[in-house]
Amino acid sequence: MFGSMQDWPLTCNKVLDHAARFHKNREIISRSVEGPITRQTYAQTRDRALALAKRLDRYGLRKGDRAATLAWNTVRHMEVWYGLTGIGAVYHTVNPRLFPEQISWIINHAEDRLLFVDLTFVPIVEQIIDQLPLIELVIILTDTGHMPKTSLANCVAYEDWLAESDSDFNWVDVDENDAAGMCYTSGTTGNPKGVVYSHRSNVLHAFQSSLPDMMNLSAKDRVLPVVPLFHANGWALAFSAPLNGATLVLPGALMDGESIYELLSTEKCTFSGAVPTVWLMLIQYMQRNDLYLPDLERVVIGGSACPRSMTKAFRDDYGVEVMHAWGMTELSPIGTICSMKPEYADLEGEAWLDIKETAGHPPFGVEMKIVDDENKELPWNGAAFGRLLVRGPCVTRSYYKLEGEQFVDEEGWFDTGDVATIDEWGYMQITDRSKDVIKSGGEWISSIDLENLAIGHPAVAEAAVIGVKHSKWDERPLLILMLSDEEEATRDEILAYMDGKIAKWWMPDDVVFVDEIPHTATGKIKKVALREQFKDYKLPSDPT
Ligand code: AMP
Repeated sequence: MFGSMQDWPLTCNKVLDHAARFHKNREIISRSVEGPITRQTYAQTRDRALALAKRLDRYGLRKGDRAATLAWNTVRHMEVWYGLTGIGAVYHTVNPRLFPEQISWIINHAEDRLLFVDLTFVPIVEQIIDQLPLIELVIILTDTGHMPKTSLANCVAYEDWLAESDSDFNWVDVDENDAAGMCYTSGTTGNPKGVVYSHRSNVLHAFQSSLPDMMNLSAKDRVLPVVPLFHANGWALAFSAPLNGATLVLPGALMDGESIYELLSTEKCTFSGAVPTVWLMLIQYMQRNDLYLPDLERVVIGGSACPRSMTKAFRDDYGVEVMHAWGMTELSPIGTICSMKPEYADLEGEAWLDIKETAGHPPFGVEMKIVDDENKELPWNGAAFGRLLVRGPCVTRSYYKLEGEQFVDEEGWFDTGDVATIDEWGYMQITDRSKDVIKSGGEWISSIDLENLAIGHPAVAEAAVIGVKHSKWDERPLLILMLSDEEEATRDEILAYMDGKIAKWWMPDDVVFVDEIPHTATGKIKKVALREQFKDYKLPSDPT
């Protein structure tokens, strides 16, 4: 017997329809790449996305076809997402911070037919266009007046292309399981792998991630996604904000402390999301200039572990609640967010910070467990750590063109490659990537815990911990530090600061100071490069 309820496919464009009908005057405020800040309502955005869908349809783009974007967070980029999904085509965000060879590899692998590109990235496209035989047309996200002189043969100005169309169009019917978007993981080894989001996973994920104990989004919120649309599906804010009728404020190309502060402040944003590095720049800018953000209520911080000192600074100095989150491209991407359940509601001070240091608990729709090397499930006691496995309707089961390979076990569990603890109430804390964990005398040491501790020292700007070969213990931790401008600290001062705050055998065997810590294109510490740099490092504790 079936239920009597209607079959109403969960498709991305219904989200924009809803925003345009029920929140029609709510705005998308956008710092354009050309400079000025533009304002456009959800109703106007829907009209423009419909016009784009019609134009794409006339061009001959069809269901399942892919189009790449090399673009910042702007309203035009959002129109492109909704225009493409509106005809059943697939938006494919490409990270412009990758090397040109990686960008062309990804675009060729996805077999993208069109390329939407911001003015900033036209030089990259000019450099690689000869390696992109399948790209038929480059659409530059600007108007005629701002078109650059370019060597690109087949290119048009987005506004001109759009002006040839109008909004008298209906979204093309699609199945909710059809592909809507694509994002390649920035794997540190091997080729990048393409995760394919469906309409259904995007819509379900928008529900999941905006629930009260998750991002707690509402029509009253003014949301600034600093996290780029090309990072892990933009944390899905391009769907969850309109689903809730929240105002969107898009930062365009400028993500330095001053520019982000200006938008957060003048647009009275209540909510924002970014990786820790961005918040570090913002906090430093506010500290230097004695500035505050009275309207900002909460910030989601994820992508890398959020240092305790940052959560504390936001709480104590700015009255902002940090919502530490964990996720990955393969999860659409939010897996957990740290909000306080009743069990922890009365915590204060350091005990509150202890919980806030975890990445929190998952919404309905994300199942998780931790297992040891024999795949035996480990207890949820906040101490045992093992490989983190997840499953759910917004978790990938494979990758583009690798569908024949096995990426989940027979029960559907996906191995995240992260190592974590889970406490009694389901609060998960990442202790490492499985390949970064330090194996000392058969026991595991968490590099993230050590980094978080070291970064609490006032002179430290950034910290990385890697395992270095040791003749007795197999591996021992080496602490690599970048100090803040004009700050000084010695090895012994740093070790004295850490002493007593962690188990003795977790203490780094040595400390080195560097001018810069290398980062990947998504802002994570490049541990592979550090391991290579320090592969012959001789620890003073090593007897041989
Ligand atoms: P990406 O797919 O590029 O978003 O990278 C996902 C990976 O980033 C995860 O598998 C984690 O290793 C790492 N990551 C994300 N959020 C956190 C967090 N809150 N704490 C520690 N690592 C994180």
